Amino acid sequence: MSQIQEADVVRVLRNVQDPDLHRDIVSLGFVKKVDIDGGKVAVVVELTTPACPVKEQLRGECERWIRTIDGVTDVHVEMTAQVRGPAAQSTGPVLPGVKNVLAVASGKGGVGKSTVAVNLAAALADAGASVGLLDADVYGPSVAHMVGGEGQPQQNPQGMLVPFDAHGMKFMSMGMLVGDQSPVVWRGPMASSLIQQFLTKVDWGEIDYLVVDLPPGTGDVQLTLTQTAELTGAIIVTTPQDVASEVAQKGLKMFGTVNVPVLGVVENMAYFKCGHCDARHEIFRPRGGDKPFASWGVPVLGAIPIEPELAALGDEGTPVVKAAPDSDTAAAFRALAQTVASGLSTIAMTQAGAGMPTAIDADGPLLQVTWDDGHVSRHNFQRLRFLCSCAACVDEHTGKRKTVLEFIDPNVRPMKIEQSGRYALQFTWSDKHDTGLYTFTRLRELCECESCAAKEKQSAESSRGAAR
Ligand code: ADP
Repeated sequence: MSQIQEADVVRVLRNVQDPDLHRDIVSLGFVKKVDIDGGKVAVVVELTTPACPVKEQLRGECERWIRTIDGVTDVHVEMTAQVRGPAAQSTGPVLPGVKNVLAVASGKGGVGKSTVAVNLAAALADAGASVGLLDADVYGPSVAHMVGGEGQPQQNPQGMLVPFDAHGMKFMSMGMLVGDQSPVVWRGPMASSLIQQFLTKVDWGEIDYLVVDLPPGTGDVQLTLTQTAELTGAIIVTTPQDVASEVAQKGLKMFGTVNVPVLGVVENMAYFKCGHCDARHEIFRPRGGDKPFASWGVPVLGAIPIEPELAALGDEGTPVVKAAPDSDTAAAFRALAQTVASGLSTIAMTQAGAGMPTAIDADGPLLQVTWDDGHVSRHNFQRLRFLCSCAACVDEHTGKRKTVLEFIDPNVRPMKIEQSGRYALQFTWSDKHDTGLYTFTRLRELCECESCAAKEKQSAESSRGAAR
């Protein structure tokens, strides 16, 4: 009998597909180690999250395929995980060490957004991930109470705030920053600068997931947080009564404008399970079951039952996934955590080439932006400054430009370029103009390199031809 070769094992493992990424685990780089000892084969498969919903399915498939090799007597498949995050920011990350930032949002208060954020974070931590939880609901910070992490945070010798340890998670609340002044401070531009300062002042260390409990609604604070915290993705919590409301769907639009992928909706208080007869009662369910959610255009990630115990457990400062791990509610939160983790992995693994800049060079005669697909776009400074589309440069009603190219200083240069979230660059120009954002999509369109200019010319000519 011929000896089993590593190549034989790798060949059969190419038949095992990741159902979300639609690629085999070998080409995805998941197979980390193959040990062969006579007829015994041991492999290590590294997934992209410890909360992988198909972990056991993949393990079983690996085992089955390895057993098809002649001479195999014994198979051991070890499943490990290394959480990956999306590509790094070109202008330096606001949250270094944090691999994924997930926003938990809702259209209005009281739908259970904080409850979902807390239990989702706790379920991810339970699965073995390192997790941070940030209560950014400055209008009604309640998470501290729900996880029992109250008091004043300590500062480390570098002056950074040290998060609390709460049930194996790192926890910090933004409400601590402003104390009693919150109603005034959390409005307008002051909110934006406070949020930026706060985000860079917390020592999260190395974590896989930072779950951010956003304030309800879609105002200034939410938008600034969404832009500055470099969100990997967002989920929107709603209740069955709320599903048809415009307010609930506004969040979708907000994340859309700033290019943050919405993983889907969580339907909280979806049903009540009777303790006596075990029947499921969909008390608040709108007519048509799941159908009303179809208009959202994003998937339903999970349905959480009404759990009378939740409020009481919240008061005790223990998430239900910790206090009652065998309950239906805890199981629903664990399933939600797996779906969310898998969605975030898919974003991280498929993001290369998704249109993010990886390097910016403004030191030469032109601005050069290198993109994650390798393209280097080139921009004349004066033209780029002229094409600013902020309200000061373009009339909001007529869409007409308020200035002409010749009026812009020919020697204008960017003094500062900052990345705004995952969707735009913000320039501070030498003529002091600093209100314009250039979305990544627009910057790519404005590229003046030879091949882009030629394409532009061609399309202009063909549209002129069509008009004739
Ligand atoms: P939000 O963050 O949207 O304002 P909270 O998470 O603070 O909402 O929840 C509001 C109240 O509803 C809390 O008392 C909480 O315990 C309760 N609650 C949330 N989800 C559920 C649920 N699935 N079953 C029962 N009570 C819930």
